[in-house]
Amino acid sequence: MARPVERRRHRTRQRREVLELLAATDEFISARQVHARLRERGSTIGLTTVYRTVQVLADAGEIDAVRLGSGEQHYRRCRDGHHHHHLICRHCFRTVEITGPAVEAWSRQIGGEHGYTDINHTVELFGTCNDCRQVAG
Ligand SMILES: [Zn+2]
Ligand SMILES: [Zn+2]
Ligand SMILES: [Zn+2]
Repeated sequence: MARPVERRRHRTRQRREVLELLAATDEFISARQVHARLRERGSTIGLTTVYRTVQVLADAGEIDAVRLGSGEQHYRRCRDGHHHHHLICRHCFRTVEITGPAVEAWSRQIGGEHGYTDINHTVELFGTCNDCRQVAG
């Protein structure tokens, strides 16, 4: 009888570990990076668990997921719980949360013009952040 409870506690702790790491991270990072950074902090969490945990958190909308670099999913815990977009440095993946009122109005208008409902969209902006620009000279 104690076992399911133990497992549940275990999952809760792993979830909290991942959320705390992402909350303290400014850039989008991959599941492998989440795993490596948690291990550096002394965590015993396994890579498979990290992959499963970030997937569950992303599905629940608690963290954001964006395919970056070679197409691997990267994750970030954003402060804005509402719909927003990202300005992402293409070198270090440091990210600024942005809103796009013009994009929202445009997507509603275009959808309406064509009789489509339930429109959603994915818009991310990519650039070179100030730090990366200075490194490049
Ligand atoms: Zn976000
Ligand atoms: Zn950068
Ligand atoms: Zn939008």
